[in-house]
Amino acid sequence: MNAPYSPGLLEQLQLRYAKGTAKMLIGGDWVEAQSGETFQTINPSTGAVIANVASGSDVDVDRAVAAARAAFEGPWAKIRPDERTRLLLKLADLIEANADELALLETIDVGRPIQFSRMIDVQGAIGQLRYNAGWASKIAGETTEISAPGEWFSYVLREPIGVCAQIVPWNFPLVMAVGKLAPALAAGCTIVLKPAEQTPLSTLRLGELVLEAGFPAGVVNIVTGFGRTAGAALAAHRDVDKVAFTGSTVTGKAIIDASKTNFKRVQLELGGKSPTFIFADADLSRAIPAAAMGIFFNAGQVCAAGSRLFVHEKVADQVLEGIVNMAKGMKVGDTLEGDTMIGPLVSAAQLERVTGYIATGREEGARVLVGGERIGEGGYFVQPTVLLDTKPDMRVRKEEIFGPVLCAMRFGDDEDIDALAGRGNETEFGLSASIYTQNISTAHKLARRLKAGTIRINGSGGVDPALPLGGFKASGWGRENGKAGIEAYTELKAVSVAL
Ligand code: ADP
Ligand code: MG
Repeated sequence: MNAPYSPGLLEQLQLRYAKGTAKMLIGGDWVEAQSGETFQTINPSTGAVIANVASGSDVDVDRAVAAARAAFEGPWAKIRPDERTRLLLKLADLIEANADELALLETIDVGRPIQFSRMIDVQGAIGQLRYNAGWASKIAGETTEISAPGEWFSYVLREPIGVCAQIVPWNFPLVMAVGKLAPALAAGCTIVLKPAEQTPLSTLRLGELVLEAGFPAGVVNIVTGFGRTAGAALAAHRDVDKVAFTGSTVTGKAIIDASKTNFKRVQLELGGKSPTFIFADADLSRAIPAAAMGIFFNAGQVCAAGSRLFVHEKVADQVLEGIVNMAKGMKVGDTLEGDTMIGPLVSAAQLERVTGYIATGREEGARVLVGGERIGEGGYFVQPTVLLDTKPDMRVRKEEIFGPVLCAMRFGDDEDIDALAGRGNETEFGLSASIYTQNISTAHKLARRLKAGTIRINGSGGVDPALPLGGFKASGWGRENGKAGIEAYTELKAVSVAL
């Protein structure tokens, strides 16, 4: 097997961050917070501090928004679509050229096993840029016949929305930052990006690559800092035209409230409690690993995690045994080793949250089939866990745990598709769902009845830049990715000329 990262790279990164504060990117310059304040980002595998990072507040947000506004009204407005394509492709190439470093940064800051930082974060970011690059020259309005008396020429313009705030969570910082930047830049917007306070480092490195690619100063600004300071200031800012947010449902509500200052556009990708259905006729050699990885991957810190499993009673014992074997057999631990499957949770707070949910589940009467405990003491590792005997009104069954905790339920032939869809739809969320059956009719009927933004049948997989991503109900507003994701960065303007 290839070494998981280049020799000496880790030491090089440690030296870089020992030299001083990691700075923010505002108007093409690397700056400290005006207050001089910093915060620490840690490596969740060990609890050790990696870097001190500038802690931005409202004054820094004001400067970043002003820089983004100036770029939007100035140089960026004059740049043609094909040039935006070229810049996005150039950025993709630079990420590819720096893949090793970006993957390692993601691994130490987030706690993601190195193989997945490469595959998901780095390759995902490159894919987002190359997909969206092509859109820059394909955004189009339309012409329309209107019914007013007289002769008219009416057309609809699709214009860039303007200055966009993009607030990113800590679970997939690089690919989510790029997944937000790429369509916004393709559409001609300018950006103030705020990474999560737990995981700012790959985003800051991305900022360097954005400048190296040749994007004009102020087109992409990065403000690091806390949600309640930098994040809240961005969401409330009167000169921000749109806020795009991925994160918790609670913070999503705060963003909606804050957006009222100027009725800025709001796009939200929030939590989930996504169901997986395994029918008696399913190909279990696919369904079992998919159901296990659907919840254990990234230690369950995935908004679309398959956290509720509904399995037909005929195959339930076999499926549960398979999932338990995977839970026990997967390598949990050192994220720098090439074959590690599961890393730690991102922070002490997240560890407390997840172990708290497991304790609550036990108190509520759930039975722990496997896992249920913290591993070790330095890092924030939790065993892959399966809970049985949950009820629909239990907190572990309703709420997003955001950890490697699966609630498994059986169903029988007495439950028809409508009944199963009802169980799938029983939470407030509606982000995604997975279905395993050989019966195409069952699969498509259930897919129609589920209230979920993404549905997978007989296969698992991550985000694809071509497919709309987002949720029904409390899982959010709007869609990212695909054509809808580009259009979400545009405003329509209807122009009519009396001829
Ligand atoms: P968590 O609770 O797991 O940290 P959040 O949804 O709160 O998840 O965080 C996602 C992102 O939202 C982070 O970048 C965070 O700093 C930011 N954030 C948190 N609170 C607010 C807020 N009130 N306004 C704007 N952004 C916020
Ligand atoms: Mg960190």
